Amino acid sequence: MGRSAKRVAVIGGGASGLVAACFAADAGAQVALFEKQKKLGRKILVTGNGRCNISNRAVDSSRYHGLNPAFVNNVFARFGPAETEDFFRSIGIPFVEGKDGKLFPASLQASTVVRCLEYEAVRRGADIRLHRRIDAIGRKGDGFALRTAGAEEHSFDAVILAAGSCAYPPVGASRIGYELAASLGHRIVDCFPSIIPLNVVEKGTRLLQGIKWDCSLEVLMGGKKRAGSTGEVLFTGYGISGPAALDISRAVNELVTRGEIPEILVDFFPEMSEDDLDELIAEVAADGSKPLDFCLAGIMNDRMPAVVCGFAGVDHGKKAGDASPAEKSAVAACLKGMKLTPASPRDFTEAVVAAGGVDVRDIDPRTMESRLVPGLYITGELLDIDGDSGGFNLQFAWSTGALAGMSQQR
Ligand SMILES: Cc1cc2nc3c(=O)[nH]c(=O)nc-3n(C[C@H](O)[C@H](O)[C@H](O)COP(=O)(O)OP(=O)(O)OC[C@H]3O[C@@H](n4cnc5c(N)ncnc54)[C@H](O)[C@@H]3O)c2cc1C
Repeated sequence: MGRSAKRVAVIGGGASGLVAACFAADAGAQVALFEKQKKLGRKILVTGNGRCNISNRAVDSSRYHGLNPAFVNNVFARFGPAETEDFFRSIGIPFVEGKDGKLFPASLQASTVVRCLEYEAVRRGADIRLHRRIDAIGRKGDGFALRTAGAEEHSFDAVILAAGSCAYPPVGASRIGYELAASLGHRIVDCFPSIIPLNVVEKGTRLLQGIKWDCSLEVLMGGKKRAGSTGEVLFTGYGISGPAALDISRAVNELVTRGEIPEILVDFFPEMSEDDLDELIAEVAADGSKPLDFCLAGIMNDRMPAVVCGFAGVDHGKKAGDASPAEKSAVAACLKGMKLTPASPRDFTEAVVAAGGVDVRDIDPRTMESRLVPGLYITGELLDIDGDSGGFNLQFAWSTGALAGMSQQR
């Protein structure tokens, strides 16, 4: 008599769970996927503004963070971007390339990604159980007993925990994944929100609310550069948002949650040197009668000069002729490096990803199997690995899901 199929539970029908279910079913396992919500892949649906930035051409460990980012090298060596692209093409989703190496499904629709993954998981034999939240994972003999919120109990030979992170609760994200992993003895690295707008202490930026400007941002701690990004910054009532601000948010929030307060320097004219700006101001201010802020009116949004003068500590209404060279230089210096002080991180509600999570020292990167609990596999953003914006987080979810799934042969 042949051996019966291995019974595998996948907890979570998001990015890594759906891929894990496909590969586990292919490996011959009898797969049950539990999703606590009424729909699969709700977070996938909001990725890339609904277009799903599915991966990136420049996947590399330098784009990942956590206590041990080199973990991703072992993951991608076994199931990397090329294998991911092949898998998606095989299920009818070829990729197209956008700006900065970003990859998208050719449909440019996240919903088609969820539909195709669901179709594939079912076609390969996975049993999808919606509206089933797993509240407890216990050991039962060599296997596991899972308890749902409705107090049903199910037995399995192996469990793939793909419950995601606590970032972005509007699509149902919660802390339950960490709780389940911790209940089985895994170490959890404290979480903080990443790829998120930043609160700043200075009130002056409120006057810039709604303005978008291409800037260079630098994060300095004790004079040393910790992060930087150039791109659009959106000034808001609380601080800064927009792609460049989101890019530096991880470095800022990591420091702030440790109680270290870095400086954020805003360069409004990355293409010009401070000397060029000094000269420009001197030229416009030559007749001496214009107020200082008006001298900048031709090169900036009209609400910006007064704010920049304020940050430079110079009266913006002062006639250029009455301003000292030091005051004019202070304004030019501020255009190249307006100093902002980050305040407490904003809530996970707005975070694209959560930094922190299950300590990867407890996970075998070749299979995603726990080193503490044989038969338990942990995937995706629940792990203490977070990627930059640009498709890196989904890539990690696809790869870890595939590895956990492939490891389910008897
Ligand atoms: C607004 C936004 C935009 C994003 N855009 C991009 C992008 O363009 N590119 C990119 O690479 N990344 C993007 N990300 C990040 C990316 O979506 C995540 O990194 C990825 O979805 C993580 O996959 P996962 O499988 O770990 O978790 P998820 O996809 O979050 O899936 C986890 C699933 O588990 C379910 N679940 C949780 N606990 C239980 C339980 N106890 N029982 C049953 N089910 C449970 C959840 O309901 C959920 O469906 C974005 C994130 C957000 C919030």
